[in-house]
Amino acid sequence: MTRDSWDVIVVGAGLAGLAAGVAARAAGASAVVLDTHQPGGRARTAERDGFVFNLGAHALYRGGPGMAALRALGIEPKGERPPLHRYQASYAGELHPLPTSAAGLVRSRLLSARAKLRLAALLARLPRMDATALAGTSVEAWIADQDLPPEAEALLRGVLRLNTYAGDLADLDAGAAVRQVQIGVAQHVLYLHGGWAQMIEALGARVEVRAGARVHTVEPVGGHVEVVAGEERLRARRVVLAVGTPAAADGLLPGPPPWADLGGPVTAACLDVAVRGVPDPGWVVGLDEPVYATLQSPPAHQSPPGDAVLAVHRYGATTPDEDRALLDRQRRRAGVTDDAVVHERFLARMTVTGAQPRATLGGLAGRPTITATGSPELLLAGDWVGPDGLLADAALASGLQAGRAAARAITDAGTMVR
Ligand SMILES: Cc1cc2nc3c(=O)[nH]c(=O)nc-3n(C[C@H](O)[C@H](O)[C@H](O)COP(=O)(O)OP(=O)(O)OC[C@H]3O[C@@H](n4cnc5c(N)ncnc54)[C@H](O)[C@@H]3O)c2cc1C
Repeated sequence: MTRDSWDVIVVGAGLAGLAAGVAARAAGASAVVLDTHQPGGRARTAERDGFVFNLGAHALYRGGPGMAALRALGIEPKGERPPLHRYQASYAGELHPLPTSAAGLVRSRLLSARAKLRLAALLARLPRMDATALAGTSVEAWIADQDLPPEAEALLRGVLRLNTYAGDLADLDAGAAVRQVQIGVAQHVLYLHGGWAQMIEALGARVEVRAGARVHTVEPVGGHVEVVAGEERLRARRVVLAVGTPAAADGLLPGPPPWADLGGPVTAACLDVAVRGVPDPGWVVGLDEPVYATLQSPPAHQSPPGDAVLAVHRYGATTPDEDRALLDRQRRRAGVTDDAVVHERFLARMTVTGAQPRATLGGLAGRPTITATGSPELLLAGDWVGPDGLLADAALASGLQAGRAAARAITDAGTMVR
């Protein structure tokens, strides 16, 4: 007979849900993770003729709360850092080396002398800046406060988009964004060998996962929770909702969600390209256009030797035609000619983050907590939940915390199922 009762049921087998399930198991609870689809969510990886595609450009922050959560669960991601010194910036149709150090600023022909001086001062201050003091200020307002010439503002915008994946900098909280840049500057990022499937496989090996299990209802009744998944009726002491977006979580909550207007999801248009040969320059950050091309492989192993995988990202999807044209332009700027394309995949509108930390809500502190469900038996996890980090960092950190909290609540009540 298939089992129908657990201490913890997690809905959603993306990074947040898998982290929650593994954390609950590690704390001694019985747990299962349910998903409509195969595990992975937005961290899924596809393979075509030896080329590995993440769903768009994917970088894991080495010094972020996501890495710390994975390590707490016994997982050490393997990959390579992209070479920042080779990054180019596109501005007014021309390429320039992206100045990321004091020496790079001095050499830059993109910036005026005044812009260089002001940016050098900002770069020197940035690592020690108290990011929490910026909570409540939007990124655009913070940029305006820096009193920079236009080309320096464009550079700052490009770097902030690069680190946050945000489309709307007028809404994004500067405290959250600056903290993310600090994490990026201190320890950079990793592109993972074999793609983000590496994390999904490592997490999925540590907890039972059921694919093809769409959850229709989640109903707390007298200290436990009834879950209807497909045709099955399941039971748990605690349920973690890790379904990707506030709207999806709202659809499963028994009452109205106890959180403020979180805004819409952060979107992107993506072009993933399998390339014959290795393109040069490979990395091009758009300064006057919200677009970024990045060679994922090499450095990571995601392509046959001598070939490459390039991801091009348009921050904030608009219309498919307009976005596609911009992505193709940036692909060519990155050195990938039309005849070098072996395979390509255009994703017109991806959800990058369920909701970004809004300045109007006080930034990270204004996001819903893992317990903000209106019901003690239900918990939340996702990249829009909790006070820690952005993107996958937030998904993994909130997943770890929700899984632990669910198991702890059951231990405290002395009612583990096993
Ligand atoms: C193009 C792109 C680029 C990105 N780049 C980066 C990056 O460079 N760095 C970074 O840190 N992050 C990046 N991210 C963000 C990162 O991928 C996400 O933050 C993270 O994967 C979200 O994980 P999650 O588990 O919260 O949500 P999801 O991965 O969306 O998982 C939710 C899961 O819930 C399931 N589900 C929903 N409803 C139900 C239901 N009723 N029943 C059963 N299952 C259900 C879904 O099928 C899905 O599998 C990027 C995202 C995109 C799209």
